Amino acid sequence: MGGLDDPKLVRARLVESRIKEPSSLVRKAKQRGWRPDQALWCAEDLIGARVVCNNIEDVYRFQELLEEKLHTEVTVQDYISEPGDAGYRALHLNFRLSSFGRQVGCEVQIRSLLQDAWARLSHDDIYKGDDLPADLRERMKDLSDVLFSTDQIASRVRKRVAQVRIPDGGKSVESRLSRFYADVFGKSPPDYVVRESSDVASQFNEDQWKKLSSLLRDSSFKRRINEIYRKAFGLRANISERFTTCVRAIAYTEEAALSHLQSIVDTEVREIDLFQRREILSEMPDSIADFINQIARDPESIIPFAEILSATVYCSACGEVLVDPDVLEENLVEYYELEEAPGVSTAIRGSGLLTPDWDYPHLCVYHANQFRKD
Ligand SMILES: [Zn+2]
Repeated sequence: MGGLDDPKLVRARLVESRIKEPSSLVRKAKQRGWRPDQALWCAEDLIGARVVCNNIEDVYRFQELLEEKLHTEVTVQDYISEPGDAGYRALHLNFRLSSFGRQVGCEVQIRSLLQDAWARLSHDDIYKGDDLPADLRERMKDLSDVLFSTDQIASRVRKRVAQVRIPDGGKSVESRLSRFYADVFGKSPPDYVVRESSDVASQFNEDQWKKLSSLLRDSSFKRRINEIYRKAFGLRANISERFTTCVRAIAYTEEAALSHLQSIVDTEVREIDLFQRREILSEMPDSIADFINQIARDPESIIPFAEILSATVYCSACGEVLVDPDVLEENLVEYYELEEAPGVSTAIRGSGLLTPDWDYPHLCVYHANQFRKD
C-alpha cells in the first residue's frame, strides 16, 4: 500500500494484529444472539490490527490514508474527541473486506504513542479487575487527561517546526493551502487542487482560514460530502474533492459548495453511464443465437448485458448479482426486434449463473431456502 508505509508521510507502525480468538467470538455470538455459523461473518472485528502513531495528527492522517486505500464503507468511532469513561482514547475503524467471496469484519485501532501507553497501563491494572474503586478509576482518567495535554503540546511544537521550514513563512495563499492539506491528509496536494482552490481562497481573512482548518476536520461535513459520492458511485469522495469542497464552503456557504459538488458528480455519472452503455452495447453478440452460445461458453460474460437490459437484481442477503431469465428473454426479444427468443431463459437456468428465487425475487435461491427454514 504505497503511502501507508512511507515513514516520511505518517510515522506509524503496526504493533499488533490478530484474528479473533474462537472463545471470544463465541461469547460475542451469545451476547448478540448469532448462530455459530453466522458468528464468523457477523463479528465486526474478526480481523483486528492496532497501529501506533507518534502523535494525534498522524492518527487522523493514518485514518485518511487507510480510508483512501479501502474502497469500502468505513465506520469510525472517535474515542479521541469523545474519550471512554475511564479515559480511553483511540480511533477505531470498522470495515468489511472480501475474503474468499465473503465479507470479513475488520477493526483497526489507531492510537498515539501516549494513548497507547495509557491503554497498556490501564489494561493491566484496570480492565482485569471488574469492581474497581471509583478513586482508582478517577486516577486513570487523570492520567489520560495529562497525557492528552502532553500530546497537544507536542502537536504545537511540531506545527511550529513545520512553519520555520517553509521559506516564505507560509504566508502566500498557495503555501497556506498546501500546508492545510498536508496537515489534514499527511501528503502534499496535487498542483491542480492548489490552483483551483487558490482562486477561491484568494480573499480569505484570518477568520476564514481558521474556519477552513476546522471544517477540514469536521466529520459531519465530511459525511455529507461522502454521501453525495456514495449515492453516485458507491465510493467515498477522494480527499482532493473534499478539500476543494471545504474551501468553497468557506468562501460561499456549505449548501452552495455541496450543490456545486452534486452538479459535478451528476455530470460525471451521466458521462460514465453513457460511455459504459455504449461500450457494453458495442460488445453485444450480433444475434440471439450468438447470445445463447455465449451464455453456454462464458456465462459470467453476459452479466453486463443483463445489467444494461435491466435483467439483474442483487440478493438482499448476500449482495450477489442475480440474472432474471424471463426479464432477460423479454428484453432481448425487444433488443433484437424479434417475435420471441426461445432458449434464452432455459440457457440462463442451465448456466450456473445465480437467478432470483421464485417466491422471493430479491433473494438468491440459497438465501431464500435459508429464509424458508428460519
Ligand atoms: Zn444470497
